[in-house]
Amino acid sequence: MTVFDVKTNLCYTSKVKSEIKICQNCKQDFTIKPEDFNFYEKMKVPPPTWCPECRRMRRFAQTNETVLYKRKCDLTGKDIFSMYPTDAPFPVYETDAWYSDQWDPYEYGMDFDEKKPFLEQFFELQSKIPRMSLVRQGMAVNSPYAHRVTDPKNSYMTFRASYPEDCLYVYNAKYTKNCSDSAWIFDSELCYECVNIENCYNLKFSQESKDCRDSSFLYACRNCSNCALCVNLVNGEYCIWNKKYTKEEYFKKLKELKLNTFSDIKKVEEEFEEFRKKFPVKAVTEVKSDKVSGNWFSNCKNVIQSFDCVGVKDGRYLFMVYDAEDCMDYYEWGNKAEQIYESVNCGINIARLYFCNQCWMGATDLYYCNTCHGARNCFGCFGLKKGEYSILNKRYSKIEYEVLKEKIIKQMKEMPFTDKRGFKYFFGENFPEMFSDFAYNETIAYYHFPLSREDALSRGYLWKDKEKKDYKPTIEPKNLPETIAEVSDSILNEVLECEMKDSPDSTGAFRITRNELNFYRKMDLPLPRACFNIRHLRRIKKRPMLKLIKRQCEKCGIDVETVYDEDYAPRLYCKKCYQQEVY
Ligand SMILES: [Zn+2]
Ligand SMILES: [Zn+2]
Repeated sequence: MTVFDVKTNLCYTSKVKSEIKICQNCKQDFTIKPEDFNFYEKMKVPPPTWCPECRRMRRFAQTNETVLYKRKCDLTGKDIFSMYPTDAPFPVYETDAWYSDQWDPYEYGMDFDEKKPFLEQFFELQSKIPRMSLVRQGMAVNSPYAHRVTDPKNSYMTFRASYPEDCLYVYNAKYTKNCSDSAWIFDSELCYECVNIENCYNLKFSQESKDCRDSSFLYACRNCSNCALCVNLVNGEYCIWNKKYTKEEYFKKLKELKLNTFSDIKKVEEEFEEFRKKFPVKAVTEVKSDKVSGNWFSNCKNVIQSFDCVGVKDGRYLFMVYDAEDCMDYYEWGNKAEQIYESVNCGINIARLYFCNQCWMGATDLYYCNTCHGARNCFGCFGLKKGEYSILNKRYSKIEYEVLKEKIIKQMKEMPFTDKRGFKYFFGENFPEMFSDFAYNETIAYYHFPLSREDALSRGYLWKDKEKKDYKPTIEPKNLPETIAEVSDSILNEVLECEMKDSPDSTGAFRITRNELNFYRKMDLPLPRACFNIRHLRRIKKRPMLKLIKRQCEKCGIDVETVYDEDYAPRLYCKKCYQQEVY
């Protein structure tokens, strides 16, 4: 077996065998498969020195998804909300001001210095470039608290969403309307407390369901209407606890369940979790997908070690990628993406992005770029708006660019950047951990790969203790009414104490907005007892971790790879057995 040496570029010759390497970060063995090598060869990059897990953690740690701060815009002086706190070391501009012509990213341009590691120079550039307060593409209509969104309309506290309308507290959504407190929700309307649902209408407290309406507490159901507390049900109507009733009986029974009452919802929720575990779970949750490993696929083909992918062909090590082809090590987004490698938060007609963060709207042929939208052929740039042939935010002719780019790649192979821990970052490695703009515990990495404060700091990450809201609660959770019918408009003036106020993840207290109150009234739902952060984390925790384990199909005994452990899914079926018995 050949041992790879970055300096000699051995990887450029095609490998037919797998190769075992030791991860620079966790020091564990990892295998580079022949298919991986084929991709590296096509993309002309050396293989990575970090294992897939550590690479995913590093990408996750580059992104603050849901933590917002009040601060001032450094360009207009306006009070704004931002993913960066007031003490961020670089200027932060309100999103519209950032997009405007009021500042020029080329004014920060730097000459390449061949005596200093390239990434060190990039870090110098990144420490002075103005940041976008909240990430948004397209137009925002009345949605000042939406982040990582495209064309949001009347949406509040909505994150990672394309075309959300009248949404509240929604995370990872596409074409959703009038939904609240939901995550991984697509083409749906009037939904509440739903996770991983598609094409649903008026659905509450449900998960892993598709094409369902007017129902509550569904798990892995398809095409059901007027059902409650059902699992693995297809084409069901008037069913409760998977039992069929007449229309009259159904509505009578439903009324008895009192699913509009806080304590009854809580009680039923626990019973439903026990009920769910009596049913088999499909080892890999997928719809119309072929040759996939990981979980949550819809219309995917040949997508390996990946999670939450829709319409992806030929992908490896992906998470939350949509409508993409031929990508590897990619976290989030897509919307027509091709040949994306080791990148995060990139989407909308993009191609050939290497080690990029936040590049969108036609961004192509970019290396080591951050927040460059519509840019082409750039290397190590930050904050460009439709730039071309640029390096460290300085313009070159096409020929100059090509020559200098090759020179830098050569330098990066010979003179790597070295971080605090002595890790080397040659060409082909993503940005070092210490380049992240965010405190580790502000990012999604904190949930999937928990680190202590000390560990995070020793790796070069920042750490930020959660800010407790400075307002004093006026109502304790135990004093909130059971139903929304008992709540008057005066609740809008109250400060609600979070039921998990002592948790480090809680903001301590929260308020109810007018739109939120209207939503609860329309849906006949009681007021929540916990702040958004706690509710958001609870939803994320409804899903198993992104870790594949080996188990056997309960029915036929074949080996399967799954994210569902014994505790989550005591009964597990392979795809074939599930299809034979369920759907
Ligand atoms: Zn590792
Ligand atoms: Zn089986």
